[in-house]
Amino acid sequence: MLVSQIDMITPSSLSECLNQLSKAGRKHKLIAGGTDAAVRMKEGKWRPEIWINIKNLKELRYIEEREDFIHIGPLTTHTDMIQSQLLQRKADVLVEAAREVGATQMQNMGTIGGNIGTASPAGDTLPALYVLGAMLELTSLTNKRTLPIEEFFTGPGRTVLKENEMITKILIKPQKPNGLGIFQKLGPRKAQSISIVNVAISLTMDNDRKCAEGKIAFGSVAPTIIRARKCESMLTLGQLNEELIQNIAKIAWKEVMPISDGRATATYRRDMASALLERGLYRLIRRWENQ
Ligand SMILES: Cc1cc2nc3c(=O)[nH]c(=O)nc-3n(C[C@H](O)[C@H](O)[C@H](O)COP(=O)(O)OP(=O)(O)OC[C@H]3O[C@@H](n4cnc5c(N)ncnc54)[C@H](O)[C@@H]3O)c2cc1C
Repeated sequence: MLVSQIDMITPSSLSECLNQLSKAGRKHKLIAGGTDAAVRMKEGKWRPEIWINIKNLKELRYIEEREDFIHIGPLTTHTDMIQSQLLQRKADVLVEAAREVGATQMQNMGTIGGNIGTASPAGDTLPALYVLGAMLELTSLTNKRTLPIEEFFTGPGRTVLKENEMITKILIKPQKPNGLGIFQKLGPRKAQSISIVNVAISLTMDNDRKCAEGKIAFGSVAPTIIRARKCESMLTLGQLNEELIQNIAKIAWKEVMPISDGRATATYRRDMASALLERGLYRLIRRWENQ
């Protein structure tokens, strides 16, 4: 498709954007950093009648702590998150995930709202958002609703977002002072690669190598991101020693539900999910002991 054939609107404010979205009967699609959109447009997969370019809506690009939550605007880029001292201190798992998104150019252009909006089960920031208990604010011209990220995705590329809505805010819970997070990814190449499997872990540690509470979320092993609840329940069984970590990793092998596709077989994904979780837990313990 030639650029001259693309119909694009560039609203200068959020209200103008919501107004455009509300115009019933029009097939439109938002474009933020455009990194996913450009690829799908070229492949002919996304062919809206009108693109609504939101890149200039500066009011949707911020990272702020307010009361009990960290508020992130959907136009915040991966680079913004990597460089945020607030996230480094209070949501390190999200910073690690953002660092793994493609190469520098993708991190500079790609946004967190776009990563969520694409709804790929392999999206790297998504498992991190799951373990941080993220909530999404969805806004239309006439309504605003907030829902847990776990209720947003309904399948690969599918969400509960209505045609007249957009993501206007991502809310995450800051880690507790004794909290730690880690993101691990296996991709076909070192950079510019979509995850074959990824995992985010967030733990609150007690003294004596014991975990008080923990969350684990896997990507690319099911139609949407999944929480590994059986593994999570084992985290608090006792000291996080070698035996317990290996037992948790064995349960992960059974708990994930991957498919085989062009990038990996289901069995390989199970093996890698288990291995990434084991490695991640060891990394967390080492980090805990060294701090
Ligand atoms: C070479 C390459 C490498 C990549 N590597 C990775 C990788 O390693 N890991 C990874 O996770 N991703 C990767 N990606 C995918 C992509 O870069 C990320 O998903 C990025 O975060 C998308 O953000 P964007 O702003 O560019 O989204 P866009 O392309 O602008 O939009 C993507 C989708 O989100 C929707 N959207 C955007 N903003 C909103 C909003 N506020 N509300 C509702 N819907 C919205 C759009 O309508 C569209 O459907 C890669 C892409 C390329 C081309």
